[in-house]
Amino acid sequence: MKGSILEMKINGKKYKINVKKMITSIMILIAIICLAIFGATKLVTKNSEQNEETSVATSSKIETTVKEDKHVNLVAIGDVMCHNTNYQTAYNSSTKTYDFMPAFKNIAQYVGKGDITIGNLETTFAGADRGYSGYPTFNSPEALGEALKEIGVDIVSTANNHCMDKGAKGVVATLDNLDKIGISHTGTYRSKEEQDTVLVKEVNGLKIAFLSFTYGTNGIPIPNGQEYLVNLIDESLILEQIELAKKQNVDLICASMHWGIEYAQKQNKEQEKLADLLFQNGVDIIIGNHAHVIEPMEKRNITLPDGTEKEVFVVYALGNFISAQTKQHTRDTAILDMKITQSGATGKISIDEVDYTPVYCYDKGKGVYNRYELVDIRTSMKEYEEGKGNISASLYNTLKSELADIEKVLGDPIKKTEAKPQETSEEV
Ligand SMILES: [Zn+2]
Repeated sequence: MKGSILEMKINGKKYKINVKKMITSIMILIAIICLAIFGATKLVTKNSEQNEETSVATSSKIETTVKEDKHVNLVAIGDVMCHNTNYQTAYNSSTKTYDFMPAFKNIAQYVGKGDITIGNLETTFAGADRGYSGYPTFNSPEALGEALKEIGVDIVSTANNHCMDKGAKGVVATLDNLDKIGISHTGTYRSKEEQDTVLVKEVNGLKIAFLSFTYGTNGIPIPNGQEYLVNLIDESLILEQIELAKKQNVDLICASMHWGIEYAQKQNKEQEKLADLLFQNGVDIIIGNHAHVIEPMEKRNITLPDGTEKEVFVVYALGNFISAQTKQHTRDTAILDMKITQSGATGKISIDEVDYTPVYCYDKGKGVYNRYELVDIRTSMKEYEEGKGNISASLYNTLKSELADIEKVLGDPIKKTEAKPQETSEEV
């Protein structure tokens, strides 16, 4: 060994090895290996940290975006009329009060079952001091409103051809009385500010706006400067009210429309055009009235101008909820029962089911206390067929023919459309 040079002889050949250089090379190699191991460990740790971060982010995303579906059961009834004989025979002379509850007792359960129930008040509560009156200018005992409240009516539309029957003061008194009774109202107003404040109800977490419009006020003029008193069917007012509803970030818009031709069992072109206008601008549900007879209902899938597809529903008229009218089919009505869902995942509204209870306004005859009584047609017929109940053969026959007519006009209840089963290519 000479200096740091090591001489080796392998297979007869001589090799010179610089020991210093060799040690330096080994050291460098060890350093490279160490660095490589350290780097790899660091990389693995970082990756796993990143994975953790990703999984935390994913789980918090799930928590914030997947909301539960919201369900609302919306019930609607027809025109609440009050002719002379309706209120005169609701008067209890011993208590000196009016009581409409006996008229409603058979069907109260169907009205009250809604998470929210809406009707059309086609009379005024202008006050006893103005004298109660029937057709042609209605002013009814407030007890009628109290009975509606008791059976579960939450909202009434007041925009109809009889809302001005007792003038501007009658409109204001009616709204004051409804406030006292505790029934919300839409369609007539005490001021411009009130008209611009759309009625919104939060039901089971779903925000629903209730709008109401009428074709007219039976020729009774709306005073100049007080146009806010009544929502008339006017395209610009309709669009303005829909916009006001949208500004409140509502999930659903329900419009009560007082329209159509009296005693016509089918909607006309005007109603269809208006329904299209309402739907295209954001209304989801239309509850029509005024015809005093039932008109058809329809669920549609529509495409909005922006390409969005949605489900909408219209019933053109539900008939008289109560009245003393005698014309054909004016005693028939239906209590509509809608099941609406807002998808938690997409926010989309679906009108899952629309069922109805056919009801007949039975006239027990002159001089009888609470002469008019609403009858649940199907239950009464079933009881009669089973030899139970107390209806006459003649009333049974009337109910049978009126039921056939109601079912002919409204058609089958709307059932939830089930998702199509996935087709499989496997052949068994
Ligand atoms: Zn009307």
